[in-house]
Amino acid sequence: MRLTEPSPGHTWRQGLVLLLPTALSLTAVGLGVAGIVLLAEERRVLGAALLGVGIAAGLARALWIFRGVRVRSQSLHLCGGHAPRHEAELLRVLEQCLSSGSLPTVVGSGWGFWTAHVIARGNVIHMHKFTGERPRRGLVDPTPYGMMRFLAGTTIFDAEKAIRRKYGNTFWSTPSIQTISLGGWFGGSCHGNSGAGGKPSSYAVHDIEFYELYDDRGRLWPQPFERREPYKVARRLFDDDLSRYVIVAVTFDALGTNETGIGYMVDATAWVHKTLCTIPIGRNVERGTRRAATPELVEWLDDDAPLRLLFCGSSRRTYALGLKYNWWTPQKPRPYRRILGLFKVEHVDPHDCSAACMSLQLDAFSMIGGWHETADDAYNGRMLIVHANRFTPDASTIGRAFYGLGPAFVHLFNVRNCEFIFNLLNPISSSARTVDLIQQLVDELVVFCRSRWARCEIRTNTKRESAGVVFVDLGTSDANMCEIVPLLTPFVRERRIAMHTSKYQSSAIRSAVANAGLQLVGPNAIYYGS
Ligand SMILES: Cc1cc2nc3c(=O)[nH]c(=O)nc-3n(C[C@H](O)[C@H](O)[C@H](O)COP(=O)(O)OP(=O)(O)OC[C@H]3O[C@@H](n4cnc5c(N)ncnc54)[C@H](O)[C@@H]3O)c2cc1C
Repeated sequence: MRLTEPSPGHTWRQGLVLLLPTALSLTAVGLGVAGIVLLAEERRVLGAALLGVGIAAGLARALWIFRGVRVRSQSLHLCGGHAPRHEAELLRVLEQCLSSGSLPTVVGSGWGFWTAHVIARGNVIHMHKFTGERPRRGLVDPTPYGMMRFLAGTTIFDAEKAIRRKYGNTFWSTPSIQTISLGGWFGGSCHGNSGAGGKPSSYAVHDIEFYELYDDRGRLWPQPFERREPYKVARRLFDDDLSRYVIVAVTFDALGTNETGIGYMVDATAWVHKTLCTIPIGRNVERGTRRAATPELVEWLDDDAPLRLLFCGSSRRTYALGLKYNWWTPQKPRPYRRILGLFKVEHVDPHDCSAACMSLQLDAFSMIGGWHETADDAYNGRMLIVHANRFTPDASTIGRAFYGLGPAFVHLFNVRNCEFIFNLLNPISSSARTVDLIQQLVDELVVFCRSRWARCEIRTNTKRESAGVVFVDLGTSDANMCEIVPLLTPFVRERRIAMHTSKYQSSAIRSAVANAGLQLVGPNAIYYGS
């Protein structure tokens, strides 16, 4: 299904549904404690009644342990629909859809529906049971040694874990949220935090298997038409019209290398070291003139960094925070931190609730309060690259315990999240250095956010001296989204810009793009120039 138009009434419904688990937790604890106190005071009937209701609320809250319940909360398709478990069952469901003349709405983990403010409706196929590693067997075309084939409902978290256990390798980069499905990852134009020294999140994909449901003229096929394509071809097809396809499986090449010997996946025992760069905007920006890159920006735009991301927002009025990761080996100095300012221990992330704290400080607090740790040892830890890829700690215990709360508030405060993708203006044609262009873009975004309630995230594989792809992720109200388009326009190469296909989009944003004289293309056209 294409997530191009938000559903009316989605926002408040989604907010309420996602508040339900927290409301049930509070009810369970509140009534449970009250019931026990009353029982202790020998007020048996009332005490037992309150305790009973508390236990019932606790049991209801426990339902959110199941992935299916969370997926339904996120896609707002609360009951009904199909939930195939294996390939024959999926084929049967699709045949039923085609024979009844209707296209299915496929739901992976539902986060794209949540982000796009779309309610899953119609003939819904939930993929949360369609999971696990399923190698192709038989003599003709078996999945070879070194490759792993997963069904499309498998989460990134589970696929990564299985590959790491079997082959000891992990992804170069992944979308920061680990609970999304492989179908949502590659069906939508998702990407990771890869920097100039890293590789895109699709790097390990060997091929994608999917069913095509209708032909070029829009006529439904009598039978789902089976296809298997490399990522580049699949990307173009899915960007053109995802509603035409149902992704069945993704095969990753865990041991293969490219022509220069670089692995499609990276050793899972590889360490990275994180550094935070506080990137100021200068007086020239206040005076309205453009300026050269600051040393902090140049440091962040490190050509060797495999991963990096940058945040700015309403609460950070004069600076942006850029996080970068560099490879770490035992030959390099070991980073340390102090517990309660006293005991010096080696700084290895994640520890305690460090992943959740980092994500909150850099991302959410860009909009709320602006606080972040400034101690020298705070953003100076080493971690396995797999942990660095899990920037959004939703798969953690903490993420599960408070499930729904953050996402509910995002909706109730009417914050929407869209993302623009473009190639940075060629420095030769703009007569500015690449680093200066990125600095100017950061300056513009900082200034944009401080006069509105907004936060921006930049990810790019741009090198210090050669322009690359830039992702600008924006969280703000619907009205503000259109205003960012003219601001981005001077940085866009060949006047072609794309939008993330499984985040928020609207006709108003598309009009703003057209009014700015830009051509809206699919992400594949930005990556591959097709
Ligand atoms: C907290 C958070 C952090 C995020 N971080 C990132 C990030 O770092 N990088 C990034 O790129 N995105 C990010 N996203 C966006 C998210 O990755 C996308 O919305 C993703 O597509 C959601 O995947 P899903 O499995 O939840 O898919 P769903 O929401 O279920 O579906 C998304 C789209 O894919 C389609 N689809 C799903 N499965 C299939 C299938 N098997 N066959 C055909 N179509 C299918 C659906 O119909 C829908 O159009 C983030 C979102 C959140 C909420």
